[in-house]
Amino acid sequence: MRKIEMKTPLVEMDGDEMTRVLWQMIKEKLILPFVELKTEYYDLGLPHRDETGDQVTIDAAEATRRLGVAVKCATITPNRQRVEEYGLHEMWKSPNGTIRAILDGTVFRAPIQVEGIRPVVRTWEKPITIARHAYGDIYKNVEIAVPGPGTARLVFTGEDGETKEAVIQQFRGPGVLRGVHNLDASIASFARSCFAYALDKKQDLWFSAKDTISKTYDARFRDIFQEIYDAEYREAFRQAGITYFYTLIDDAVARVIRSKGGFIWACKNYDGDVMSDMLATAFGSLAMMTSVLVSPDGKYEYEAAHGTVTRHYYRYRAGEKTSTNPTATIFAWSGALRKRGELDGLPELVHFADVLEAATLDTIAGGTMTRDLAALWEGEAESVNSEEFLDAIAGRMEEELYADSGEGLETITIVDDEGNEVTATVVYRAIRGEDEFAVLVDDEGGALVVRCVYDGEEENSYHFEEPDAETADSVFAEFEEEMENYPEDEDE
Ligand code: NAP
Ligand code: MG
Repeated sequence: MRKIEMKTPLVEMDGDEMTRVLWQMIKEKLILPFVELKTEYYDLGLPHRDETGDQVTIDAAEATRRLGVAVKCATITPNRQRVEEYGLHEMWKSPNGTIRAILDGTVFRAPIQVEGIRPVVRTWEKPITIARHAYGDIYKNVEIAVPGPGTARLVFTGEDGETKEAVIQQFRGPGVLRGVHNLDASIASFARSCFAYALDKKQDLWFSAKDTISKTYDARFRDIFQEIYDAEYREAFRQAGITYFYTLIDDAVARVIRSKGGFIWACKNYDGDVMSDMLATAFGSLAMMTSVLVSPDGKYEYEAAHGTVTRHYYRYRAGEKTSTNPTATIFAWSGALRKRGELDGLPELVHFADVLEAATLDTIAGGTMTRDLAALWEGEAESVNSEEFLDAIAGRMEEELYADSGEGLETITIVDDEGNEVTATVVYRAIRGEDEFAVLVDDEGGALVVRCVYDGEEENSYHFEEPDAETADSVFAEFEEEMENYPEDEDE
């Protein structure tokens, strides 16, 4: 029995509705059979948030600051209708907003690209990641409807009583007014998260704003990025062979469309809001978009960009096996496990994350996918339900992780040649087409018994009174040789 070991637990944030159902399935089918999973579990499902007065969300965010890596399921952000549906004590705030505020983080959204679903923009060969600044600008604006003629002024009164003032407009008739702000500290955190993430991904970083028009406001963004880059990141970027460059937002849009992809595009709040939806659609589907929250001091929270897929959940509750796409949630898990593996120096865990992603993409590329993808697919596609899709991925993972690995990962019970049931550890497994082979080892009071099982039935067993590694190795070698001749042997 040898599952992949972890050192530090992941912060696991469970969620709501259809994604909560998928969460459980992903763990059961794709993670737990292979990994000795360690998590600190926080139930961010709406009923439990309500029971704890939303304290659980704060606890989960603080655990992320402490442990460094989190994986999050999609959660309901309650509105009035949800307050009624769940009988809530309060209309709790968006968990993502709460977590983002505590981590002071930036959200990076990247599409998962798969063979057979080509982006609308034909030149894009690699994903484009959008980093959206998540503070201020019009999202914290103050607005006035101007009823008629008059003067609008922008006034700042300092704590020392000094004022700064500018005339916005002399209104001759009715109109509208808006006041927006941002904070140097927030812009600086945003910049650091972007530089750190670019280094992590070894990808170029672009930043765009409109400083030719907004010579003070947007220029401040440009200058803060530049100062931090020069002082803290220039050398690291040079060593990583990546670049940072600033350009005007309209120039950036033109360049993005002509690009091959494969970079990170940092956007101001509104630009990021708009551009991320444009990119998600152009790359394929919201169900294939990942999201990672990165704090300036390098804490990571991985999730899918989509929501709880409510419409599918209601159909699921009515007994339907829905074809909801779990890909982005799978990639949240693989992203978090890979990062944990990197931080803890666990190459096996990193490899597991690679295998999980490859098995998912290969399943789709092989023509087996959920309904949303089948609709975008260019070739012959088999549209399956979520469970069948996950089973297909699990099958590929077993092949990759067990087959010919020489590593034991589970115990199974078989009937031996004398008709007795024995439970033994699989130490070697090979898959040839539909048939499975295994070498099992069990420990009978100090003696080692190696049992070779072909397709569920014991064929040979070897008893070692005084077991040593060398003899066991030669048994595996013999078994491996037989495997190489299969299925020719069978045909004889
Ligand atoms: P949504 O859950 O993303 O779903 C919108 C529609 O997109 C679905 O009805 C479905 O279309 C399609 N879709 C999204 N993800 C899919 C997937 N994995 N597989 C297949 N189809 C998928 O957005 P919503 O309906 O606006 O929001 C539902 C709930 O999620 C809300 O309570 C909201 O607060 C919450 N939410 C949470 C997060 C988060 O936690 N990060 C983000 C956004 C929304 P069809 O029905 O046409 O198949
Ligand atoms: Mg948007």
